[in-house]
Amino acid sequence: MSQIVIIGAGFAGLCMGIQLRKAGYDDFVILEKDEDLGGTWWENTYPGCACDVPSPMYSYSFELNPDWSRLFAPQPEIQHYLAHCAEKYGITGHIRFGVEVDTLEYDEQALRWTVTTTEGEELKPRAVVSGVGALHVPSYPEIPGMEAFEGRVFHSARWDHSYDLRGKRVAVIGTGASAIQFVPEVAKEASRLTVFQRTPNWIQAKPDIEMPAAFKLPGVPRVVRDAVYWVLEARAVGFAVDPRLSGLQKWMAMRQIKKQVKDPELRAKVTPDYTIGCKRILLSNDWYPALTRDNVDLVTDGVAEIRPNSVVTTEGEEVEADAIIYGTGFKVVDAMDHWKITGRGGQKIQEAWADGIVAHHGTTLPGFPNLFLLLGPNTGLGHNSVVFMIEVQVAHILSCLRMLSENKATTIEPRAEAMLAYNERLQKRLRKAVWNEGGCSSWYLDAEGVNRTLWPGFTFEFWAGSRKAKPEEYILG
Ligand code: NAP
Repeated sequence: MSQIVIIGAGFAGLCMGIQLRKAGYDDFVILEKDEDLGGTWWENTYPGCACDVPSPMYSYSFELNPDWSRLFAPQPEIQHYLAHCAEKYGITGHIRFGVEVDTLEYDEQALRWTVTTTEGEELKPRAVVSGVGALHVPSYPEIPGMEAFEGRVFHSARWDHSYDLRGKRVAVIGTGASAIQFVPEVAKEASRLTVFQRTPNWIQAKPDIEMPAAFKLPGVPRVVRDAVYWVLEARAVGFAVDPRLSGLQKWMAMRQIKKQVKDPELRAKVTPDYTIGCKRILLSNDWYPALTRDNVDLVTDGVAEIRPNSVVTTEGEEVEADAIIYGTGFKVVDAMDHWKITGRGGQKIQEAWADGIVAHHGTTLPGFPNLFLLLGPNTGLGHNSVVFMIEVQVAHILSCLRMLSENKATTIEPRAEAMLAYNERLQKRLRKAVWNEGGCSSWYLDAEGVNRTLWPGFTFEFWAGSRKAKPEEYILG
């Protein structure tokens, strides 16, 4: 019987497994619902899928990769990198593929979790680490008539590679981080492409260079990673210090529009009217050029209805389509709505989160002993690599496990007042931040307008405050 169950074999779950091995724990299993590892980097295979954080930083600090082909590695390379890490650190054998977790229930007598899979199998570990991430439940809009569409329909995260886009009339709904990567590729194939944009994004040029040969020299990947880290951290000054410091960011984005979009009407359509940084700043060199192609239209009227062979705008324009591709993102704040987790005293996680999702250091919850959430509430980033945040959280979890063994205890959970104080500090900073004040709506905020997803400051602040669990903030049992 494994003592620790890790859910998910993406960046988070694999990092947990690797660090457990390194710390001498061998009694763990990683349950992965897909048939291979990589998580989001296994599931998202849309054309043009690549990292939008420089790869020297979008990788584990303990396993730098001198072989990145580009500064922003394409999806297959990232998936191979993760497979390499799993193999090198001896955790591939710990992964069980095609096993989806259905429920987690805390057994107060046995002081163990009951993990039940969708196949009905039960595991009884002491601890559970969730590495399921926030970006894996596809979000579809609710548009009247959408079920009646007779052409091909798919979401960017479930790309239908069997469908040949050549010569087809394609409608894309959504213009976020995924769409700006696949739209330029679809535009090359489709006979007609209509892109439905609800809100324009601030987009900057992507320094998407091939990695020079010198990158492979000993020590260079570390130097480059450190340099990239600080360049990315500098992007946080606009929200962590003063919004006026975002001026340079805006100038860079405006320059990209002016350089690449000559038509004043299109320019007006793609220029955002909210403060830069309010939504994730995107990087692309080929998004605006794609929109200026003869076979591409950008529609900014809303989508009112979908008919069997067309998409109808709120202005009554009917756009015929053979296929609709949803680039409408993921359920983020509400992704945990369907979680079936029951803690001590029969408390459902939804009850614990009746006022909004919250955790101590984004990782632990009172009433849910030995349950750890990687990339939990308020650990997301708009400016740097979440892999950094994962590593800090994994260090936090290991320090909790050490606390358990040093004290010969069985359970650990945070004090409610510690979690409250931590989150009050966090929300105080967030209330004044650009995501609330910048004049945009985004999935960073929940239905009440509270930011439950992002870390509000520099990542080194999270490192300094969260990598080690403080004994006075935890209850051992
Ligand atoms: P997203 O950024 O949330 O974009 C979703 C798009 O769909 C937005 O343009 C949104 O418009 C639109 N939309 C949503 N519901 C709609 C509706 N009902 N009607 C019309 N339009 C609608 O999703 P994503 O592009 O899949 O990216 C999600 C996240 O994944 C990113 O923020 C990023 O963190 C991550 N990602 C990362 C990479 C990477 O390289 N590292 C690449 C892709 C994605 P509004 O803006 O008006 O809401």
